Amino acid sequence: MMLVKRLRSSTVRWADQLAPFLSHNAQVQTQRFYSSSPYNDGPSVPRGTPDIDPSALTIERTSSPKRLLDPKDLIFGRNFTDHMLSIEWTAQDGWLPPRITPYQNLSLDPSACVFHYAFTCFEGMKAYKDPQNRIRLFRPDRNMYRLNRSSSRIALPTFDGDKFTELISKFVELEERFIPKQKGYSLYIRPTMIGTQNTLGVGPPGSALLYVIASPVGPYYPTGFKAISLEATESAVRAWPGGVGDRKLGANYAPCIVPQIDAAKRGYQQNLWLFGEEGYVTEVGTMNMFVAWVNEEGVKELITAPLDGTILEGVTRESILALAREKLEPEGWTVSERKYTMAEMKKAADEGRLLEAFGAGTAAVVSPVKAVTWRGEEIKIPLSPGKETGPLAESFWNWMLAIQYGEVDHPWSQIVSN
Ligand SMILES: *Cc1c(COP(=O)(O)O)cnc(C)c1O
Repeated sequence: MMLVKRLRSSTVRWADQLAPFLSHNAQVQTQRFYSSSPYNDGPSVPRGTPDIDPSALTIERTSSPKRLLDPKDLIFGRNFTDHMLSIEWTAQDGWLPPRITPYQNLSLDPSACVFHYAFTCFEGMKAYKDPQNRIRLFRPDRNMYRLNRSSSRIALPTFDGDKFTELISKFVELEERFIPKQKGYSLYIRPTMIGTQNTLGVGPPGSALLYVIASPVGPYYPTGFKAISLEATESAVRAWPGGVGDRKLGANYAPCIVPQIDAAKRGYQQNLWLFGEEGYVTEVGTMNMFVAWVNEEGVKELITAPLDGTILEGVTRESILALAREKLEPEGWTVSERKYTMAEMKKAADEGRLLEAFGAGTAAVVSPVKAVTWRGEEIKIPLSPGKETGPLAESFWNWMLAIQYGEVDHPWSQIVSN
């Protein structure tokens, strides 16, 4: 009770002091402070100030279109399209008219809060070409939901996801020539939001920039699947209860590079992030982790860690779970979102019950895992005979690509042009 009281009064004072800077979501958070999970509310659209307005879009086309690269020379995230989409926001005026301009440098004051206090969050999504040459997005509503959850957690503004998706659709239509036609190729889309307020004071940014850039990308496995070896990291933790590991904040990624380099030096392609003395399995690199085993009850189980605040809510994760419930459960599988440990994985491997493991994320869709090294011991994970993947990872990969490339009709795939 005391604590709640103290929180209440300090929150109110904080809100009063910062009132001139306060964005709607700081106010909303103040109101919601007393719920059991204060920062876990969904996005709120700005109140009182204008939301994103697609009808106000202006387009300035480049006068020097880039030469297209041979698709086989594409390197992930290295080359960008001709244009970018930008929308500025101020606490006073809300979202300003969206602009598509030639791809260009940003000009920011060195004191801008993004450089000092990591007011930055992002999304990763893709545009695909279907056999009829139409452009498709995959579950953009999930990326919009997540970007709002990320931005609101760091006192950046929220927005109407459908309106932003409409603008992204216009942007990718304009960049249509950059989307390779071949299956497996796509246009990687990177929405980014940064705080742009010029001040070294630590507080909610009074101005922000939401922008979108896009990079044509080739297939993750140009010559077929390549199963990876992981090292279970115990010297560093990626995310923790009450932290922000469940949001796509820039601040979550830089600290993961050194442990990743350490694992790479020892010959592992990725690290497996664990949590707690129990050694709970959380994520693999920047992918969600799935394990398939015959559990202690003798039932075939596909398992992934639950969304307890330490796990990024992957769109691929959510889609794989839905596909598994639709397609595997009728075949006797159990599909579980629950905690599981390295010790359980090792025991399953020792008893011959471990079936498969793979990472899941937008870039690779699935990334088969062939081994995990934990406390100096290598746990081997089975693959299909003569293949660099297990049967489940391969099935999910096929099901997902058929939907993403519009080979089957599915509500997850949204056509943006004709
Ligand atoms: C982006 C990301 C994922 C995967 O999310 P998708 O929406 O499936 O691409 C998983 N884990 C982390 C830490 C991520 O940043």
